[in-house]
Amino acid sequence: MNIILLGPPGAGKGTQAKALAQRLKSLHISTGDLLRHNVSQHTSLGEAAKSYMEKGALVPDELVTDMLKERLALTDTKNGFILDGYPRTISQAKALNEILRKLKLSIDGVMYLDTSKPVIVQRLTGRRVCKSCGVNFHIKNMPPKNDGICDFCGAHLYQRNDDKEETIEKRLQVYQQEVSSLIDFYAQQKKLLRVTADDEAEVVLDRMISLLKHDSLKV
Ligand code: AMP
Repeated sequence: MNIILLGPPGAGKGTQAKALAQRLKSLHISTGDLLRHNVSQHTSLGEAAKSYMEKGALVPDELVTDMLKERLALTDTKNGFILDGYPRTISQAKALNEILRKLKLSIDGVMYLDTSKPVIVQRLTGRRVCKSCGVNFHIKNMPPKNDGICDFCGAHLYQRNDDKEETIEKRLQVYQQEVSSLIDFYAQQKKLLRVTADDEAEVVLDRMISLLKHDSLKV
């Protein structure tokens, strides 16, 4: 099954996409993770994307779309994928349809993680990420056993530059400008499933699974 997760920064898309991918035995594809990997490896894409990401702005469509096109063309997508962070604009949604059409793939459902602003700000400002393995923690909701150290690999945790309060505001503005048209786009195609996502991660995941079942998609 091929699913898109939509939602504001801090909606828990990354966490839910990983969990859902495990349950459905499919692949998690996050454009944010792919871009951050490029930045850390100093690739030409990473160098081009870095300044946009630090400001909380969107990376230009053609850069992200080319990156995603290459990723979707790999054969491991055949067992299904959960797309996290793409599309963010209508032109990306149209580009995605075109890419999938050429690959003879399609989207089965689009889940919108509906989240309130205070919850978003609390989740993002408290998020800490492992420098080495990329696992996310939260200083209150999911603290590491030892302050600032990853439970899994022992590397240091850091706060993403774009998780600082001043950048979050900008990311939310950017998001709001685009999301309503994306929601309409997928609602018109009868693919949109809305999920209330202010609750704890396990509760939201169960809600997503039962929605997918109820919607008689083949979970
Ligand atoms: P995320 O991890 O999804 O919050 O993405 C982090 C940052 O990567 C965003 O603030 C953007 O700068 C960039 N980014 C990720 N996905 C996209 C996309 N589909 N289009 C443009 N920029 C993106």
